[in-house]
Amino acid sequence: MKKIEHIGIAVSSLSEAIPLYEKLLNTPCYKTESVENEKVNTAFFLTGQSKVELLESTDPEGVIAKFIANKGQGLHHIAFEVDDIYAEMRRLEQEGFTLLQQEPKKGADNKLICFLHPRSTQGVLIEICQEIR
Ligand code: ZN
Repeated sequence: MKKIEHIGIAVSSLSEAIPLYEKLLNTPCYKTESVENEKVNTAFFLTGQSKVELLESTDPEGVIAKFIANKGQGLHHIAFEVDDIYAEMRRLEQEGFTLLQQEPKKGADNKLICFLHPRSTQGVLIEICQEIR
């Protein structure tokens, strides 16, 4: 895997979280994007080679709403960039990790993404992502 592409943080309100993270990181939010199939609004910040992705639910039944209801706001996932998501999914599956998708799906920020079940990664939700070229 090439690098930590981004860290995903679940927030209740982007309108509150964006100015907070702009202050914290001392950099402007460079993009907001809705991902309808994931029922989230996202906001991105660039910090060196890696990004911070804020995730706000658009639906009380969405995964981010459920995550916040269970655990509160906070760290949601870590995303690693890969060159070939299909090859990496096959490799991870062969190594015994549980994939949450059998096919990559379209994520925010022009990415194909796939999540690994936290049960197979000692409790951390891991995303792998590949730039759509
Ligand atoms: Zn992500």
